[in-house]
Amino acid sequence: MKCDWVQDNIVFYVYNELEDDARYEVEQHLARCPACTAELKAARKFHATLSQAPVTEPSPNLLAASRMAFAGSARDHHPGRILAASDFRSRQLAATGPHGPAMVAVIFIVGFGGGIAATYNS
Ligand SMILES: [Zn+2]
Repeated sequence: MKCDWVQDNIVFYVYNELEDDARYEVEQHLARCPACTAELKAARKFHATLSQAPVTEPSPNLLAASRMAFAGSARDHHPGRILAASDFRSRQLAATGPHGPAMVAVIFIVGFGGGIAATYNS
């Protein structure tokens, strides 16, 4: 096996994203290749450093915009599933309540959902 292949896949190895057979091949190679073992150490260190970074929660506006984009995309691909959009809309209301920017997002989503429904029914 070539070092190029192992080093291309070392990140997947660190993140446990390799299939069992690929994982086995990487381990076999690492056992006899100091260069790739050094690469593995660097990847593990990088992974550990990233893991220490605090995870930032997305803002309600970003969440709302993402869900809206997702709902629009889902509608484009599955026009029959229009109920999913209103389902997530009511969940959004329940999750955030009528406060500030979140309320603006909710109003926007309600309008957007109404637009979807109107388009769908016509
Ligand atoms: Zn190697």
